[in-house]
Amino acid sequence: MPAMSWVLGAAVLAALGWIVAIVGGQLGRADRRQQLASAAAQLEAQALGLDATRPGGAPDRPIEVISASQIEPRAQREPCPRCGGRFHVATHEVQVIDDDRPGPGIDADAKRLRHVVCRCGSCGVERPTWFYIRVPTPLA
Ligand SMILES: [Zn+2]
Repeated sequence: MPAMSWVLGAAVLAALGWIVAIVGGQLGRADRRQQLASAAAQLEAQALGLDATRPGGAPDRPIEVISASQIEPRAQREPCPRCGGRFHVATHEVQVIDDDRPGPGIDADAKRLRHVVCRCGSCGVERPTWFYIRVPTPLA
């Protein structure tokens, strides 16, 4: 299965590169090229499994853990989908998500999430992941 997704990802990237080169060259317009590059980056993220729809890819789909000590090992566990290199935690911060009430102040139902950004030590690709600690622990 991982070998198959590599092949699929490589095919998608090759096709995108070709489309960007052909269409971008014919139109010769910077804004069109920028749109295509943005679309290509989005598709690359999807092909690499780095998009917001994966588990932990967005605040509304955090990976649940039972202890803060599980977060960084979990975040670094899988190899880089682009090059197979190792991920290392670049940033790890607590973020309070309170999206049902505008303005200052925090609801009682606000979720305290961990936002971890890992960076590949080989190719530098970044993978942001959201975590939720199911049993709340006091945070210093
Ligand atoms: Zn990499």
